[in-house]
Amino acid sequence: MHDGVLPKRKGILFVISGPSGVGKGTLKDTLLKQQIDIQYSVSATTRPPRPGEVHGEHYFFLSKDTFCQLVEQGEFLEWALVYDHYYGTPRSFVLENLQKGQDVLLEIDIQGARQIRHQFPEGVFIFIAPPDVQELARRLRKRGKDSIEAIEKRLSSYAEEMAQLQHYDYLVVNDRVEAAAEKLVAIMVAERCRVTRLIRGEDNETAFDK
Ligand code: 5GP
Repeated sequence: MHDGVLPKRKGILFVISGPSGVGKGTLKDTLLKQQIDIQYSVSATTRPPRPGEVHGEHYFFLSKDTFCQLVEQGEFLEWALVYDHYYGTPRSFVLENLQKGQDVLLEIDIQGARQIRHQFPEGVFIFIAPPDVQELARRLRKRGKDSIEAIEKRLSSYAEEMAQLQHYDYLVVNDRVEAAAEKLVAIMVAERCRVTRLIRGEDNETAFDK
């Protein structure tokens, strides 16, 4: 099978997604504090920065014109309109890291995850769910970022978003953020040990070869 040298693997694309307000952002921040050697892909958005958010660290904050120009130039791997603002994943950052063998993490909405799944079927798709819809409603109200109408809109999309679970590889219920982050680390460690990834990484063409 091999001549004593273990085959290398290409980088793995990990995608965490799930209903809005489920705490994906906080979970991602908790995850990135662990020693897990992963490159987080900073998204672009047309949403204005919230207090404390830094351009290039939390998001690339762009005007709508600039965002649309980048869409036309094919600079995003995926993009979506998420509750009144555009969000997109920069293409070259993700592809360059994967090609180097570096794992990459995306934290994106469900529409974006669907687009990525078509391009990267070998990616690892992790659905983050709230313990229940009441808890989701409580979290949305508590974070105080949204108007009552916006919260109602998000809650009404909830059932539809939960129905997407069947297309994911893993479900992590975000009841306690530390416990949920531990599960994410366990998933990442296990996926990195998959023999099929070593073989596929050497033999098969994947989305980033195209
Ligand atoms: P927020 O504005 O609260 O940081 O994020 C709002 C929503 O946009 C969240 O569900 C988040 O996962 C999603 N989001 C952030 N970046 C991207 C991206 O690059 N693409 C897509 N499709 N969604 C994103």
